[in-house]
Amino acid sequence: MVERVKSLGAAYSAKRGKAVASDGQRTKSRAGGRGAAGEPPAPDKRVIALVYDFDGTLSPRPMQEYAFLPKLGIEPKEFWAECARVSKAERADVLITYMHLMYKKAKEKGVRVDRADLVAQGKTVELYPGVEAWFDAMHAYVKKRSGDEGITVKHYLVSSGLTEIIEGTKIYRHFANVFASEYWFDAYDLPFPKRVISDTGKTQFLFRINKGIEDLGQSINLHMPEDERPIPFSNFIYFGDGDTDVPSMALLKKNGGHAIAVHGPDENATKCVELFKAGRCDFYATADYRKGSDLWKRTCLLLDRIIADVKVKEEARGLG
Ligand SMILES: [Mg+2]
Repeated sequence: MVERVKSLGAAYSAKRGKAVASDGQRTKSRAGGRGAAGEPPAPDKRVIALVYDFDGTLSPRPMQEYAFLPKLGIEPKEFWAECARVSKAERADVLITYMHLMYKKAKEKGVRVDRADLVAQGKTVELYPGVEAWFDAMHAYVKKRSGDEGITVKHYLVSSGLTEIIEGTKIYRHFANVFASEYWFDAYDLPFPKRVISDTGKTQFLFRINKGIEDLGQSINLHMPEDERPIPFSNFIYFGDGDTDVPSMALLKKNGGHAIAVHGPDENATKCVELFKAGRCDFYATADYRKGSDLWKRTCLLLDRIIADVKVKEEARGLG
């Protein structure tokens, strides 16, 4: 969505007119992950983290376009353009602006949308082909390829979109944790942003996964030696679709991790090619998550490399 708003200042349809509004942030505040319960996880390095952006990566359009905006009778293009205009004029954060304008518009139209309504809207969010089966399939692939090594996969979502809507989607249960933007619903007359996850802010959550400190109540800034971190960056694959994913991709690539850029079947690959040439990602592919697709094959190739890397380190351990 950030992308959406940023690009909307100029052109709404660089990518087939899809307004990328919130790309993702939500914190499945359930204590997912071993570090969330408060006790530090063992640094066994046998977990692979697959981390996804949401809007434009798992879903074709910004999640607000499937139910929230239609419910108010607002054209997505106009809404995102207004967000861009207002944030620029007010020098306001684009994400806070969109979260504010959503409820300001609802109030103007006399439409009440509470938390339960947003969660229910998640059911209408469209997913790219193969997404629903993808998560279990990746678990099965890694189990099969890693043999007796006990290497496992955890799926994470890091999105500027809304926690509440993501919670209602069919794929919510597959995530070990979800870090996304979220509202306070009882602080003021209009819901107020509780947590806003910007593109650079996304990297905080990569560090949380890396260090096993997924409880947002715990500080992430304490030093932790690399060899004590439960999921090394080299065990990460990040999936994203645009400029808002650059900080995350850059962080991982600089630390031995991996990234794949995706584009919709109806979109051109220009942005992906740009990311690829800039060294932001290992591969790019159409957002087709079905078995045998280019995305499937390229992801498995990276998984094979990570599994081999884990086995090599395991074999070398203790040799002196
Ligand atoms: Mg996106």
